[in-house]
Amino acid sequence: MPHSEARASGIEGEKEVVKLIDGCPNCGKKLKPLPKNYPLYDVQCEACSFRAQLKTNRCPPKGVIFGAGWNILNHVMKAGFMIPPLIVNFVWTENKRKRQCICFYPFIPKDKIRRRKGNYAMFNYTGILDLPSFVLYEKPGSKVPPPSTKGGLLDAAIQVMKAAGRPMNCKEVVAAVREKKLWSSTGKRPDATLYFSIFREIQKKGSEARFRKTDRGMFELKA
Ligand SMILES: [Zn+2]
Repeated sequence: MPHSEARASGIEGEKEVVKLIDGCPNCGKKLKPLPKNYPLYDVQCEACSFRAQLKTNRCPPKGVIFGAGWNILNHVMKAGFMIPPLIVNFVWTENKRKRQCICFYPFIPKDKIRRRKGNYAMFNYTGILDLPSFVLYEKPGSKVPPPSTKGGLLDAAIQVMKAAGRPMNCKEVVAAVREKKLWSSTGKRPDATLYFSIFREIQKKGSEARFRKTDRGMFELKA
């Protein structure tokens, strides 16, 4: 999608969201779109200090969504500010019917932000289905992401791997996690997400990591 088109659909999305949701999540008064070039935030409450970013995604709820420019967010985080609350307007079609749900993620930890592969000037939000969220609007018949379980995929994976007691690959782990209903997601490649999470933990924590790589794509829990 060309940038201008994406921007236009963003603005339409903002108007639509403001209309559909029941006002400010904090105080219930009216929300209004901020000016087009306003950095980082897209909507603001008329009565209180609530402000949020707003993204429209033409797909069912999923864990990875396009963010915005990395530089400004990086400055904001370096200055010690938190990542702005995020409202995501998911719009998609299913059986030729329009589906829609608007989710609000009040708190986004830093580790959910990733610079976009192939375009480091931009970032994505990842793993947002694991975050605490509120559904602000749901078109009847639309599937809303399941409420977050406390730990998310990584914790569920640990349970499964503990029970198995042998090295496993991420596809196997995800299948077992689903079978035991420890975690669910509408994401397309949870095995890839899991791989990345485990990989990152090993990279970041070294000998403190809870996992060990045993072979290509295979991990086991440390005793
Ligand atoms: Zn308000």
